[in-house]
Amino acid sequence: MFEPDEIETAACPVCNSNDFQVAYDRFKPYLVVQCQSCSVYYL
Ligand SMILES: [Zn+2]
Repeated sequence: MFEPDEIETAACPVCNSNDFQVAYDRFKPYLVVQCQSCSVYYL
């Protein structure tokens, strides 16, 4: 199992930005985030 601090937060696949906001964290170990640059959602 993944530890909380092992959840990876990848850069945006569209614009490669690391500026994101957490959208959902109920699908652990996956964390759904929304890119603040282009608004795309990704894991
Ligand atoms: Zn983006």
